[in-house]
Amino acid sequence: MVSRVIPVDPFDLTIFGGTGDLATRKILPGLFRRHLSGQMPHEAQIIGAARSELSDEEYRDIVRAAIAEFGAIDHSDSDVDEFLSRVSYLHVDAKGSAGWAALKSKMRDGYVRAFYFSVAPALFGDLAERLHEHDIAQRDSRIVVEKPFGKDLETARALNATLAKHFREDQIYRIDHYLGKETVQNLMAVRFGNMLFEPLWNAQFIDHIQITVAETVGVGGRGGYYDQSGAMRDMVQNHLMQLLCLIAMEPPSKFDPDAVRDEKLKVIRALDPVEPHHLVRGQYSADGEQPDYRSAVDNPRSRTESFVALKTHISNWRWAGTPFYLRTGKRMRARSSEIAVVFKETPHSIFGPDAGSHRNALVIRLQPDEGITLDVTIKEPGPGGMRLVDVPLDMTFAEALGPDAETAPEAYERLIMDVIRGNQTLFMRGDEVEAAWSWTDPIIQGWEARNDVPKPYDSGSSGPEDALMLLHRDGRKWREIR
Ligand code: NAD
Repeated sequence: MVSRVIPVDPFDLTIFGGTGDLATRKILPGLFRRHLSGQMPHEAQIIGAARSELSDEEYRDIVRAAIAEFGAIDHSDSDVDEFLSRVSYLHVDAKGSAGWAALKSKMRDGYVRAFYFSVAPALFGDLAERLHEHDIAQRDSRIVVEKPFGKDLETARALNATLAKHFREDQIYRIDHYLGKETVQNLMAVRFGNMLFEPLWNAQFIDHIQITVAETVGVGGRGGYYDQSGAMRDMVQNHLMQLLCLIAMEPPSKFDPDAVRDEKLKVIRALDPVEPHHLVRGQYSADGEQPDYRSAVDNPRSRTESFVALKTHISNWRWAGTPFYLRTGKRMRARSSEIAVVFKETPHSIFGPDAGSHRNALVIRLQPDEGITLDVTIKEPGPGGMRLVDVPLDMTFAEALGPDAETAPEAYERLIMDVIRGNQTLFMRGDEVEAAWSWTDPIIQGWEARNDVPKPYDSGSSGPEDALMLLHRDGRKWREIR
């Protein structure tokens, strides 16, 4: 099968924070890969804008090094040179006047204009204000904003209001890179492109759904930020809730940004509050050379969680009775993100008690090894009677798709191309983000009021024992993190 790369319209993309970690690790190497694929038109212009005083050449050296380290894919020096010929740099101060006139003079009429805010959220308002004040943003210009989008409902509302002073909602692209993953979109194709699953996609047939996002890394150099945030704000409020929405939403009438986002919003609004006994928080312990959470964030009394697990329900006709279990944590056994839709057992086993208990599970794996598998029960081959065994059926068909599967764009690059195309389907709308905070705020306020102290858990484990008990009490089991 031959990959179909459809070039986007020529654009001027300004990356504020163009020297930062995110820009050099993800955004610029991603754009380079789009260049290699032929999706980026020759007239495209990429402007790095940040606080450092750098010449174009010095900046190109930074980008060259970033591509060498993070660009992956095979390429030649001339590929890099060609890409770099579209890259320039400006020293711009979000809080002052430096660089804005120069940025305006670089803008070309008739090209898509996009501005990526890859800077601290405290600067989002300043950037929006400056782009307006210097008459750089036009009616159809787009801005891309990174997470975190606020730290609670109040701050998210304030941020939405600040951006809304200068940009309409259809110009604002709130990025959640989980939505850009190939498998997440494949999940929608599997759900809404097949007759097979949708009739079974409800509480009558689905026993429970579990969503796990496990990391092996600790807080690293982000300790200061992380200790103010924690797993609930950093992961659940955005990534895990977005995944939950895509799994649980009703079929939208069409694959169109507002139709999809309206359905996701309904899911968030139907989420039950989380009971305190359905919530487990943890902090990782020291492991050999690696410090424990409190030492890593340099706060010996920290009550911030590096792990959270919870059980919730969605109060609507489709899902009443099917629990949703969510968990995420740092320093876990393996780096693994997956959603498991676990179906109920057959109502009666004709194979007798020796056949054991078997359940179909649709597993959507986001990392590593993106893919979708369906666990089906079959007869164990060979003599010896009717013994049943569960085997995974690969629904990703990487082999059938051939090299396409390998050259599929990574999340960031796909999302940036969507920005240029003006397609907001995979971006969060302002009301969605606010609704997500409305659900998480009372959970956080609850444990703050109770002075809840997170439970310690071993690094390299599956989290605190209580998290295992959360499912065990219901006669269920987490899938192994591997
Ligand atoms: P960083 O600290 O590495 O880079 C910050 C950038 O902002 C630098 O280029 C700096 O020059 C620029 N900057 C700072 N003050 C400025 C000013 N007054 N005017 C103009 N530019 C200024 O940060 P980062 O890790 O790249 O993160 C950027 C954004 O992306 C943040 O909102 C962060 O929360 C978000 N984010 C980062 C990651 C990641 O993996 N790094 C992941 C998700 C979200």
